[in-house]
Amino acid sequence: MRTQARAGLALALLAALLLAACGGGAADAPRVEVRAVTPAPVDTPAPTTATVSAADPDEPPELIVSADVVAQGSAILVSVTGGVREGEAAFLGRVHPLGQGEFSKYTVIGVGMEAPPGEHPLVVRFTLANGSAGVFERRIDVRETAWETAHIVYEGEPGAIPLDDAERAREEALLAETYGLETPDKLWSGGWRAPAGGPVTSHFGEVRSYNDGPSGARHGGADFGAPEGTPVYAANGGRVALARQLAVRGGMVVIDHGGGVLSGYAHLSAFAVAEGQTVRRGQLIAQVGNTGLSTAAHLHWEISVHGVLVDPLRFTDGRNGF
Ligand SMILES: [Zn+2]
Repeated sequence: MRTQARAGLALALLAALLLAACGGGAADAPRVEVRAVTPAPVDTPAPTTATVSAADPDEPPELIVSADVVAQGSAILVSVTGGVREGEAAFLGRVHPLGQGEFSKYTVIGVGMEAPPGEHPLVVRFTLANGSAGVFERRIDVRETAWETAHIVYEGEPGAIPLDDAERAREEALLAETYGLETPDKLWSGGWRAPAGGPVTSHFGEVRSYNDGPSGARHGGADFGAPEGTPVYAANGGRVALARQLAVRGGMVVIDHGGGVLSGYAHLSAFAVAEGQTVRRGQLIAQVGNTGLSTAAHLHWEISVHGVLVDPLRFTDGRNGF
């Protein structure tokens, strides 16, 4: 659907910059040689009690994937239950170690907005407590997402935007470093919540065309239209990795949820947390604002999975399947 919006070049630059933080999807899935699923034989005696915990070394491993059919911009939760000591999951040319979850070893995989549609192998290699190794393979079908296009009209000269290239580059480097954090601990649990009330005014992945020019930057998050001062809440538990003023994103909070999953909140007018602080889901972290390169008060919310920006609304509306 064609939508009309008025915005400054600032918004265009912001969109480009927000996208620049995205790691993007690999262009080609590498050929991966996969052995058949071979859980190693367990030669230790059976437990003498009926109690079997997830950490029981005798329990055969099982692969649990949140969805076999996923859309561009979604996230996949990969868990291996049973007596698994360590492991890693490979998908679309990237490999992520399995971290320790509540009941299993797990990782979350980001399917970028430009991930190639089609079937791709998910290969999970693991080592059991007794030292033997095995491999699971699952086919994951990536479906194309129908992205919205926003036709944005702006007036004014690009030179009017007070943007310092060096400062912008520092901001991009800081964000890339922050979204690259791989904290082993799982700091989130259960469902995710929207960080603010208010209508969603711009969706993830939206393609932007300025003054009817060619389509360019893609939107790296979801925007909530809300007045300045509206409370912003943590989408899930975690640790505050960043809470500071930035040139483009204005007041910015990033929460590290562990396992390479982080959520970012931009254009804030006030902070309620400091860097290093632990937060729980639903905790007040900031207030909506119009800081940085922003033309109206709103919350820009994004989620990064191992450096790949994905649709944050898929975490709150159940479409990710976890
Ligand atoms: Zn935004």
